[in-house]
Amino acid sequence: MAGFSLANVQRDFPLITGGKIAYLDNAATTQKPVSVLEKMDSFYREYNANVHRGIHRLSERATDEYEGAREKIARFIGAKSPKEIVFTKNTTESLNLLSRTLPKLLGNRGTVLSTEMEHHSNIVPWQNSGMKFDYVPITGWGGELDLDSFALKAGKASIVTLTHASNVLGTINPVEKLGRLVPKESFLILDCAQSVPNMPVNVGKLGADFIAFSGHKMCGPTGIGVLWGKEELLENLPPFLYGGDMISSVSMKGAEWNSLPWKFEAGTPPIGEAIGLGEAVTYLKRIGMERIRTHEEKLASYCMKRLSEEIPNARVLGPLDAKKRGGLVAFSIDGVHPHDISGILDNFNIAVRAGFHCAEPVSKKLSLPGGSTRASFYLYNDPSEVDLLIDGLKKAEFLFKR
Ligand code: PMP
Repeated sequence: MAGFSLANVQRDFPLITGGKIAYLDNAATTQKPVSVLEKMDSFYREYNANVHRGIHRLSERATDEYEGAREKIARFIGAKSPKEIVFTKNTTESLNLLSRTLPKLLGNRGTVLSTEMEHHSNIVPWQNSGMKFDYVPITGWGGELDLDSFALKAGKASIVTLTHASNVLGTINPVEKLGRLVPKESFLILDCAQSVPNMPVNVGKLGADFIAFSGHKMCGPTGIGVLWGKEELLENLPPFLYGGDMISSVSMKGAEWNSLPWKFEAGTPPIGEAIGLGEAVTYLKRIGMERIRTHEEKLASYCMKRLSEEIPNARVLGPLDAKKRGGLVAFSIDGVHPHDISGILDNFNIAVRAGFHCAEPVSKKLSLPGGSTRASFYLYNDPSEVDLLIDGLKKAEFLFKR
């Protein structure tokens, strides 16, 4: 990382310090820096209490930290107000929240338009939403959206929901351009699970109505995710889950809803996790999202180059131009099952992902019955880990050919 010590960054992450493992499975989940671990530890050791409830100092501190984390996250993605940040469990829950509430608002009328490159969490909830479901195909191994199909179908859809960056193809979709093809009265949702952690994202510029992302993919803990929505739209949506905290008053005849964002946060929320995510955002900001993006782009580019030059029967999925993709490289090697590849690499202390990566339609489209092998990079990876991967693959190929 230019102007920044990669060695120092690596030292912040105890699980990988000292090159114990080449952790190249960051698109699945990332490692956690000491600052996040300590922040969560201090919550449980020093001020563990429920939020918004107790009139005592522990609860007041927990509430301040919890709501403070929300403010940090709002600033991180350029939200107009912390009211626009709803804490959920993960991207999947954020998308489920929308798939259960938007159709109610629309009286189940109209079509939801998704794409063939989505994670299952942006397909299955919509197939089961009670609305008509349609999708935009991908072009094939080049891994881009069929833009003619998008232009044709988006104009007729009530909800358009697509990924900002694909977790298999790596493709970064031109969402600002695509958003202009979505009618003003329709809703545009972006799955930002693979973009918010890896590149600068500003909701003021994206043109979306809602975005979803997960804390665990951006140095934060598991169990915490975010739904961002424009305040006036969230205001109009019915609640998702019902119970304590999401109400302002209850009688035996009915209830009134709490104000934003608490209307969508029923029950005791993931307090320590939200506080941990707030600290993760502080960490990422300190490194700089531009710097993280550039770093990942270089690693992906180097990985694709070495794969194409040195592993003769390897084929990379998605765009070959590193500028058009995020910091992950999925590939297939003729005649070798991805599970066998990742098993062998594990013997060399290299962690990669194998299979469908929860996006089976992409593998079906590319006729890859076993899916692909994916190396995904983050701010603490370095080129020597790409070297290890390539060496490991050469050994794996050798083993399978004996
Ligand atoms: N969308 C994309 C693009 C993803 O990569 C993932 C995680 N692999 C998800 C959604 C779902 O994230 P989570 O499991 O944290 O809900």
